[in-house]
Amino acid sequence: MLSTMQDEPLSLATVLRHAMTQKADSEVSTWTGSGMRRMTFGELGLQAGRLANALRGLGVGQTDRVGTFMWNNNEHLVAYNAIPAMGSVLHALNIRLFPEQLTFVANHAEDKVVIVDGSLLPLFGPLLPGLTSVKHVIVANGDASALEAPAGVEVHPYDELLAAQSEEFDFPVVDERMAAAMCYTSGTTGEPKGVAYSHRSSVLHSMQVCTADGMSLSQRDDVLTIVPMFHANAWGIPYAALMCGASLLMPDRFLQPEPVLEMMAVEKPTFAAAVPTIWTGVLGQLSAKPQDISHLRQVIVGGSAVPPALMKAFDEQHHVPILHAWGMTETSPLGSVAHPPAKATDEEAWSYRISQGQFGPAVQARLIDDDGNVVPKDGKSLGELEVKGPWIAGSYYSPDGRPVEPEKFHDGWLRTGDVGKITANGFLTLVDRSKDVIKSGGEWISSVDLENAVMSHPDVLEAAVIGVPDPSWDERPLVAVVLKEGASSDAEALRASLSDRFAKWQLPEHWAFIAEVPKTSVGKFDKKVIRAQHAAGELEVVELEGPRSH
Ligand code: AMP
Repeated sequence: MLSTMQDEPLSLATVLRHAMTQKADSEVSTWTGSGMRRMTFGELGLQAGRLANALRGLGVGQTDRVGTFMWNNNEHLVAYNAIPAMGSVLHALNIRLFPEQLTFVANHAEDKVVIVDGSLLPLFGPLLPGLTSVKHVIVANGDASALEAPAGVEVHPYDELLAAQSEEFDFPVVDERMAAAMCYTSGTTGEPKGVAYSHRSSVLHSMQVCTADGMSLSQRDDVLTIVPMFHANAWGIPYAALMCGASLLMPDRFLQPEPVLEMMAVEKPTFAAAVPTIWTGVLGQLSAKPQDISHLRQVIVGGSAVPPALMKAFDEQHHVPILHAWGMTETSPLGSVAHPPAKATDEEAWSYRISQGQFGPAVQARLIDDDGNVVPKDGKSLGELEVKGPWIAGSYYSPDGRPVEPEKFHDGWLRTGDVGKITANGFLTLVDRSKDVIKSGGEWISSVDLENAVMSHPDVLEAAVIGVPDPSWDERPLVAVVLKEGASSDAEALRASLSDRFAKWQLPEHWAFIAEVPKTSVGKFDKKVIRAQHAAGELEVVELEGPRSH
């Protein structure tokens, strides 16, 4: 029997209309280094109308891609809403990719127009001659005349272009399965791959972000959105904020711990989102220059495993709960969130909180072993995580219809490349990326477990663990450590501090003391750089005695 319900398509145009009328007083504000540039959602809606008219005038039609090359700021949020709401496709370019990768993704997506932040022209200008599909560049927050355009490309100043437009735009409601926005994976292996989110997936995902056991965003929040809008759509926060009326605080290019804390002192956000490396920096700055940050009712952290020591430090020293979440560009990204069950004891609650979290009601998950069998969800058995659901990618974007890396998809499930275990009540604990797991004498050592343990040492700022070739054991762990300023622990002492948490054969014998852990374009530890440095003999390694047996 068919239902009797209306078949109204889910649409980001509907979300924008709701925000600009019913949440018209909520705000998006951008830090300028000394204060805020504010815009209400009501004004944002009018600016979105002007931008949509401008883009239509430049020949942007439905399904055409419009790139953004911008920081998190007001103008980026206008573009975020105008482009999908007019039926075109937003493509937030990751400004930190290598130039060749940026050229690849802009050409692969066939971006017709790119909106660029003036402060990023020195990065963008040299790319422009290689961007084969771009016909127009719109420069926001800067001097458009500073950009030298190749023949066939027109450059427009954002403010002038928008000032000449009507604010009225009849945003169409398109088929909910059409692409609304796309993001490319950060390309740690092979070419970046395009994920095209639909209106349907974006609206459903935003609803999940707003639920109490998602990110619990509401109109009572001021959300400091540090996670870049080009990284998995800033974890879905912008559309969720428009949906619920949460105000957004945008850091623009001021992403160092000092300006982030300055901005927090002025604006007192209730909620914040960023990868662990940002919070490690903030914590360091807070110990150098104490500041009350208890206005934060919650900080969501994901993108890579949150070291439990970091979580504990925020809890105990600053009374700020870190909420751990797992996701991927391919999962919109919210997959699982670590809210402990209501009946958990304090001790149980902690072990739930440090896990990667529980899958939401619309996300199905399973673990697959090396032989392709589904392993039980018993909190012990390990396997590669596969997921499916309405906001999980079913394929990668392909301009010519030929499947891109079809091996990443398996019977309708997305293969995540993450290895972990799942409890009977659906909590995920990741032990590693499948390519990062260290196989020593046929047994697994989790690089993440070692990193977390080393980073819980009071002398350690950061630590990344890689597997290095070994004649007896195939692979052994190498720890690349960054000590805190003035700290003097040596390899022996650090290894000794691990001995109560790891089997003897798991204790690492290779230690390199480095100035900083290299980071990817989205702020994660870049282990492939450390591997390359090690292979090239560039790391000075302290060698301790290795295991005699397993
Ligand atoms: P990206 O699409 O660039 O955000 O990368 C997604 C990958 O980041 C996942 O497949 C995981 O390997 C990793 N990741 C994301 N969140 C977490 C987390 N909470 N703990 C451990 N790894 C994570």
